[in-house]
Amino acid sequence: MPRINEHYRHLKASYLFAEIRRRTKAFTDANPGVALINLGIGDVTEPLPAAVVKALHDAADEMAQAKTFKGYGPYVGYEFLLADIAGHDFATRGVRVGLDEIFVSDGGKSDSANLQEIFATDCVVAVMDPVYPVYADSNVVAGRTGPADDSGRYAGLVYLPCTAENDFQPALPDRHVDLIYLCYPNNPTGAIATRETLARWIAYAHEHDATILYDAAYEAYITDPALPHSIYELDGAREVAIECRSFSKNAGFTGMRLAYVVVPTEACGRNTAGERVSLNALWQRRVSTKSNGAPYVIQKAAAATYTPDGKKQVRVLIDFYMENARTIADGLAAAGLTVYGGRNAPYVWIRTPNGASSWDFFDTVLSRAHVVGVPGSGFGPSGEGYFRLSAFGSHEHARDAVERISTRL
Ligand SMILES: *Cc1c(COP(=O)(O)O)cnc(C)c1O
Repeated sequence: MPRINEHYRHLKASYLFAEIRRRTKAFTDANPGVALINLGIGDVTEPLPAAVVKALHDAADEMAQAKTFKGYGPYVGYEFLLADIAGHDFATRGVRVGLDEIFVSDGGKSDSANLQEIFATDCVVAVMDPVYPVYADSNVVAGRTGPADDSGRYAGLVYLPCTAENDFQPALPDRHVDLIYLCYPNNPTGAIATRETLARWIAYAHEHDATILYDAAYEAYITDPALPHSIYELDGAREVAIECRSFSKNAGFTGMRLAYVVVPTEACGRNTAGERVSLNALWQRRVSTKSNGAPYVIQKAAAATYTPDGKKQVRVLIDFYMENARTIADGLAAAGLTVYGGRNAPYVWIRTPNGASSWDFFDTVLSRAHVVGVPGSGFGPSGEGYFRLSAFGSHEHARDAVERISTRL
C-alpha cells in the first residue's frame, strides 16, 4: 500500500463545521419541532441576477450548435472576460492590469489554496488570526507547519493576531516572513483595510522581499468611498502582491464556480541561484500544467455581471445582504452586545459576553435563541471569545434572529 500524505492528519479546520453540525443535530434531536435560524453559513442565498441567467441560457444555446460550440478554451480564461475584468474591476479605479496578468479559475478557495505551490516548502508563512482557514490549511498539507498545539497553533506558521485591542488590524510580523496572506474585507471579523494599512504591508514586503497574497473576495461589499478595493490602488503593490477575486459573494456564483487571480508581471521570487523569477510566468505554468480552464458557459455568465443591467442587479444583491448586516449589527448592539464588522462586509463579529468561550456562547445562542452561528475560535486561536453571524439569508431571518438573541439570552 502507498504511504499517504500524513500532513493531512494535522488539519484542524474540518473539525469546526463537523462539530457545529454535531451540536446542532444533538439539539434538534432533543428538541424536535424547534425551528432554527442558521446564520452560520458563509454561502449566498439569493438567486442569480437575471442578466446572468440570460447569459447562461444564451451560452447553452451556443453549445448546442456545431457552428458556435466550444471545446477547451484558453487555460487562463477567454479574452472577453479578461478584458471585462481589466476594464471594470481595475481601470475604473485607475489601476492598470494587463490581460496577461489575469488568470480565471473555478474558485477563489482553490486559488488561495493553490498559490502556495509556486513557492518553496521552506518559505515562512504569515496568516491573519482569525481568518478564512484555507490559507493555513493549504500550507499544513504542503508540509510547511507540522502539527498544531492544543490552542490550534501550528509551530511553523506566523500568526498575526487580530483582536478588538488592535482594532482587528494586525501588527507587522516581528520576524522575517516570505508569504503574507491578507484578507480584506475580512472573513470572519468584517475588518477593512485603509490605504494606510495596505501601504504598511507593501513597505514591509519590499523591505523583506516578501509576497502578499491578497484575498479581496468581499471587495464588492465595501461601501466607504475612501477605502481601496484593490491592493494595486497603492504604489509599489505590483512588485509584491498577488490578488484573488471571486464571483461567489458579489454575483452569487458559489454554485457556479468562477474566480480569478491577478499576478503582475513585476512580481518576482528567486531561485536557488538567487536569480529573480517571474511569479506571473510561474503561475502561468502552474495553471497550464494542472488545469484546462473554467467553463465557457460560466465565463459568459460572469461577463454578464459587467453589463449595465448586470451591474445594477449585482448591486441589488449586495444591498440586500448589507441590509441584513445592518439589522444584525445594529440590533445586537442595541441589545447590549459588543459587535464589530457588518459595515463593509457581510459578517458581524460579536464579542462573547462575560468572557464566555466561543463554544459556550455558541451553545447558549443555539439552546436559548435557536440561532446557529460560528464560534470565532474555529477561525484561529485569536478568534476565541468571539462569535460570527453572517448576513446571508432572508430579511425575516435576520430580524427574527436579532429579536430572539435580544430577548432570550
Ligand atoms: C467565500 C470566500 C472566497 C471565495 O471562494 P470561492 O471558491 O470563489 O467560492 C474566497 N475567500 C474568502 C475569504 C471567502 O470567504
